[in-house]
Amino acid sequence: MAYIIDGKKISAEIKDELREEVKELKAQGITGALAVIQVGCDPASSVYVRNKKRACEYIGIDSLSYELPESTSQEELLKLIGELNSKDSVKGILVQLPLPETIDEDAVIRAIDPAKDVDGFHPVNVGALLIGQKGYVSCTPAGIIQLLKRSGVAMEGKHCVVVGRSNIVGKPMSVLMLRENATVTITHSRTQNLPEVCRTADILIVAIGKREFIDASYVKEGAVVIDVGIHRDENNKLAGDVRFDEVEPLCKAITPVPGGVGPMTIAMLMYNCVEAMKN
Ligand code: NDP
Repeated sequence: MAYIIDGKKISAEIKDELREEVKELKAQGITGALAVIQVGCDPASSVYVRNKKRACEYIGIDSLSYELPESTSQEELLKLIGELNSKDSVKGILVQLPLPETIDEDAVIRAIDPAKDVDGFHPVNVGALLIGQKGYVSCTPAGIIQLLKRSGVAMEGKHCVVVGRSNIVGKPMSVLMLRENATVTITHSRTQNLPEVCRTADILIVAIGKREFIDASYVKEGAVVIDVGIHRDENNKLAGDVRFDEVEPLCKAITPVPGGVGPMTIAMLMYNCVEAMKN
């Protein structure tokens, strides 16, 4: 039986720690707000935005909500970001992705002041991560590092295979594991013999975006498996990128879906917001 890494519990611990820290900061007169911008009314985005605002409320940070219509132009959005960049009371700016197709996401990310980019998507923050300098780290991979550390999983010297090379998960994840002194292999859709490569992993981190893609043939006995994927079927049942029932008996530890990586993303967003307050 694998140890089930409880993301709900660990994210609650982190939020409680941050709540205390915010209390102390406020006592010193340090405050600040997170500006949350949503363009259009995609239902999944609305749920994420609501959860982010609730988390702010829980830890004691003000959140400012900007709900813009689907018809918002790129120019209008950039203008709003420019205004928020220059507002001292706004410490963090978050633009909920995806944006409508008429808006260039990269241009929007680049427009956010890197010092307020609490999602850690700005090229300045991505570059800082790569060369080991201070900056905001993308929340999902940062959350995975916390899950591993707080579950007592040693990373130094271990072989970590990351499946997926997206800018928000796979790539920053690989750099963070390198920072923890793991030996890292990054894999993707053109990787040959993927099951064989994955079977060499002590820590297997899967961010493919394909429901239950990873079965037992990809997993070495005793490995730690982190499943980033989130998929909802027609009956609203959630599953990850990993076939949990098949893989779990092989592992030393594994994250479930739901209740694994998912809750960590918001906890680390809150962590970045508190860092922004301190800056
Ligand atoms: P992307 O679609 O941006 O990236 C998927 C990656 O998987 C790509 O690098 C792609 O390779 C690779 N890939 C696709 N098919 C294969 C294959 N057959 N074999 C090997 N590699 C493959 O996804 P994201 O990184 O944004 O997200 C991944 C999953 O994580 C999704 O299910 C998403 O919903 C979830 N997610 C969960 C979060 C959370 O908070 N828990 C946060 C963010 C994402 P290539 O580059 O070659 O195309």
